Amino acid sequence: MAAQWIRNAVPKIGSVRFYSSKVHKCTLIPGDGIGPEISAAVQKIFDAAKVPIEWESVDVTPVKGPDGKFGIPQAAIDSVNRNKIGLKGPLMTPIGKGHRSLNLALRKEFNLYANVRPCRSLEGYKTLYDNVDVVTIRENTEGEYSGIEHEIVEGVVQSIKLITEEASSRVAEFAFQYAQDNNRKKVTAVHKANIMRMSDGLFLRCCREAAQKYPSIKFEERYLDTVCLNMVQDPGQYDVLVMPNLYGDILSDMCAGLVGGLGLTPSGNIGLNGALFESVHGTAPDIAGQDKANPTALLLSAVMMLKYMGLNQHAKIIETAAYEAIKEGKCLTGDLGGTSKCSEYTDEICKKVVSLAK
Ligand code: NAD
Repeated sequence: MAAQWIRNAVPKIGSVRFYSSKVHKCTLIPGDGIGPEISAAVQKIFDAAKVPIEWESVDVTPVKGPDGKFGIPQAAIDSVNRNKIGLKGPLMTPIGKGHRSLNLALRKEFNLYANVRPCRSLEGYKTLYDNVDVVTIRENTEGEYSGIEHEIVEGVVQSIKLITEEASSRVAEFAFQYAQDNNRKKVTAVHKANIMRMSDGLFLRCCREAAQKYPSIKFEERYLDTVCLNMVQDPGQYDVLVMPNLYGDILSDMCAGLVGGLGLTPSGNIGLNGALFESVHGTAPDIAGQDKANPTALLLSAVMMLKYMGLNQHAKIIETAAYEAIKEGKCLTGDLGGTSKCSEYTDEICKKVVSLAK
């Protein structure tokens, strides 16, 4: 059983936690590739909406530590520890060599154990289905992404999938609490416990135990492959989904594809000591520096951040402005079939924000 402290410590999204009307400092990690462009767009829109936030921009270019390994600079760690809240652009991870993923390092450093990815169909933007409204909640600190890998002998490599009761219970309880706080009706545990009997079996047991504590929320269990099939055939049947790390990484991109792509989907990494919000997409090196990126995913991540901080009015205005701009369809970026620049789309949202705030 998860310890009581875990249950008590589950942060509530959308509730006023430690913020009031004063100006709040937030860490900003602009990131790589399109990161600086879309971060600047978010800052501009926040200024237009007069959000009471002061950004503390930090560089996370890896630095060599005393052990000779590259990691996050101390100043960036101190900033997040001080502010307890941050917005992060995408960070590039070299494949197979170089420094390890800074995204994973940040999640581990601040114990950001739940990755929350809401994904919903947007009015006016035509996709295969118009009834997608799911939230994937992914365990964010272990599973296949534990980083425990070694070569046993040449040509044989072992990666460890680590599942613990503590992390599984923590994220399962988070999912139910999230469902309760956000008026959601059902939590689906996504797993492969038929094959990964012990690891996913433990994860599933923790979900079942959490379900018992939330009798008003419907609980169901589904295999990952079944969920993938259902998701492309009938996504309306799902609500909140909770799953181990790797499954969540993959399934959430699939959900993003159903509503219009990576340019639209936000996320929050929530932990006991703070929260970092970021878009689901990566650095998009193919369009970086060309004013072509869609800033919506990072903007909606920033909206999630505002809701987390209890700044609900500002969140609502910015969210409405973004949805209206997409619905009107006059000023869409290339990924959504438009021809507008990131800066033009940003200016359009700023105009809407100013008029909505009147
Ligand atoms: P990607 O998400 O960067 O790009 C995939 C495709 O989607 C590209 O065609 C890109 O142009 C497009 N795209 C993504 N975001 C967009 C946006 N906002 N507007 C318009 N088009 C957009 O995925 P990738 O190419 O596999 O990864 C590139 C780098 O990003 C890699 O180094 C990877 O490790 C990193 N990455 C980081 C994060 C993160 O920081 N959380 C997440 C995923 C990938």
